[in-house]
Amino acid sequence: MVDATAHDADKVWDVVIVGSGFAGALIANELGKARKQVLILEAGARIPTNINDYMTRFYKASAKVPESPYTPEIFDDKGLIDPATVNAGRPTVLSLGAKGKFGDWTDPKTSYLVQVGKTPFASTYDRVAGGTQHWLGTSLRFVPNDFRMRSAYGQFVDWPIGYQDLACWYDAAEAEIGVSGAVADQEYLGIKIGKDYPMQPIPQSMVDQYVDASLNGTPLTDAETGFLGMGKPVANIPVRSLPAARNSEPYRNRRACAGNTNCIPICPIQAKYDPTVSLNDALSTGFVKMMDRTVANDIVVGENGRITQINFLRYQHERGPKSEAKPGSVRAKAFVIAANAIETARLLLMSRDRKGIANSSGMVGQHLMDHPYYVSWGLVPKPIYPYRGPLITSGIGDLCDGPFRRERGAFRVDIGNEGWNFVVGGDPNISTVDFVNGLNRTGTNPSADALFGKELATKLNNIFTRQFRVGFLVEQTPEPGNKVTLHKNLTDGLGLPRPEVSYSLSDYTKKGIVASYRMKKLMFSKMGIIRENEFTNVGDDNPMRFDEVVDGETVKLNYTGAGHIMGTYRMGADKSHSVVNDMQQSWDHANLYLVGSGTFPTGATANPTLTIAALSLRTADHLIKRVL
Ligand SMILES: Cc1cc2nc3c(=O)[nH]c(=O)nc-3n(C[C@H](O)[C@H](O)[C@H](O)COP(=O)(O)OP(=O)(O)OC[C@H]3O[C@@H](n4cnc5c(N)ncnc54)[C@H](O)[C@@H]3O)c2cc1C
Ligand code: SF4
Repeated sequence: MVDATAHDADKVWDVVIVGSGFAGALIANELGKARKQVLILEAGARIPTNINDYMTRFYKASAKVPESPYTPEIFDDKGLIDPATVNAGRPTVLSLGAKGKFGDWTDPKTSYLVQVGKTPFASTYDRVAGGTQHWLGTSLRFVPNDFRMRSAYGQFVDWPIGYQDLACWYDAAEAEIGVSGAVADQEYLGIKIGKDYPMQPIPQSMVDQYVDASLNGTPLTDAETGFLGMGKPVANIPVRSLPAARNSEPYRNRRACAGNTNCIPICPIQAKYDPTVSLNDALSTGFVKMMDRTVANDIVVGENGRITQINFLRYQHERGPKSEAKPGSVRAKAFVIAANAIETARLLLMSRDRKGIANSSGMVGQHLMDHPYYVSWGLVPKPIYPYRGPLITSGIGDLCDGPFRRERGAFRVDIGNEGWNFVVGGDPNISTVDFVNGLNRTGTNPSADALFGKELATKLNNIFTRQFRVGFLVEQTPEPGNKVTLHKNLTDGLGLPRPEVSYSLSDYTKKGIVASYRMKKLMFSKMGIIRENEFTNVGDDNPMRFDEVVDGETVKLNYTGAGHIMGTYRMGADKSHSVVNDMQQSWDHANLYLVGSGTFPTGATANPTLTIAALSLRTADHLIKRVL
């Protein structure tokens, strides 16, 4: 990694970028290729010389959660580490526990995000060079109506740009990150792609094929699908292959996927793209340098509202004393903040002695969104052989746009290939322990049998080959009350204010989860899954559980985080109702660009990163052609 030297500290860079995740790394690479002088400030540790350092951390971790391979440390022998002692902290799924239990979500001694809302904000992110590497890789385009919710359905706001403005940037992003996909499977609900994906799709799994055959064996009736509110009969619901930033063949010196179902938290062979690929490319141009363990903490405004410099604190050890961190500053012609939707809002709000910048609209931090992820699971009647292939290879996208969006949130369906690994807390382990020790934590051993030898092997084979898990990504309302602010007193290890998060689900969003539940019922009945309630076991004290009356019956519903953090510095056509314009340029500070999914005015149902990448490439092009 090319580090900035003491000499570099005095220079005026073309661009300083804060954050080296997807958005930051892609922009740095484009600017570097255009021979612009760029400095990246990255809060986390540098990329290890050998990616196996991450693998080793993952192997040794006692909790195999998405954050395990990456620094900073989440727990030690005393339990979860107090975020007040960590210099660049981060959220973890381990601090989403019930009140009073391990990882109590309301306890700021274990949760980096200070959660003050009705329900937890359940998504996480990383703090390493290369950003959130534990992503899955699903790379969907938004459908055209996702950009025009107000015009099409009278809901929320329109984006200041439409699908057509982004289409060529989607093409460029798919080439840059390397997406495998089938055009025929993706041209639905108005999406036009018009050229092949860089690689053919990853084959659909046996699980995917079983769902498709079960749902579409005979035409569906209006009585079965009327609840969808599509405004037309739905006789067929295709299970489509999902485009993913995962090599189906060797691409740009990276290997093809070997299908071993570990994409979250880490692909051991980098068949899945992660931003370290673009970051290394950027650094190799010779025009981009980077300072790691460097936390930007103040954006300085000069004359005419232009940004003159960014101040930072550079620490040596993850949990070293605050006094050890060295302050510094960097100057540039333009500044790009690519620190994700929570950390970018935090940086803007803590600048200028906590008076905040870029906030004449008062909207910085507001409209925080995720895709609340409703999950359910069960056993199908015959073997479908999960635990093979990437974690997800197919889904149902055709139901994510229609007249129902006047009334309720849309959903998109993900079909899991990882059996019950994600949902019961680590299968095959948990089921095995159930049958060895006569327990019933998974719901599959109601008579508490303790088995051994051939009987145990037969039982486990029978269960593992039939496990099925489905997830629904639900469209969330952008609301002013769902927000990131700064906590008044609680700080991180550097003494900087921690993000305070207020979050809850609106009725519109909850109705989307109810529709997901109905869709789950339809799928499970067609797939022959029975007794699923005995398996889909969401604890009564789970803070992400809620009850709804559906068709006269009270049902337990749940959500978790999708990792899709959006909306806290929205783009718009009007400076009084948005923070940036359609180029992701601050309305208040002409040489400040705020990038990433914080600029999304609405969240739709597609995973956000391909759209982040497309917008980033568009902004980089604007910087190169119009600004520098
Ligand atoms: C489990 C999981 C699965 C996911 N799967 C998918 C998927 O399949 N498809 C998809 O589209 N998306 C997925 N996502 C979402 C995806 O990871 C994010 O959209 C993406 O990481 C956002 O990129 P970013 O560059 O905006 O932010 P990040 O990846 O969060 O990078 C921001 C960087 O900025 C640095 N930073 C922050 N603050 C400062 C500061 N003050 N000073 C210096 N540096 C700073 C951080 O350390 C970090 O390196 C997933 C997320 C999770 C958690
Ligand atoms: S299935 Fe394995 S090889 Fe393929 S992307 Fe996932 S982790 Fe990498």
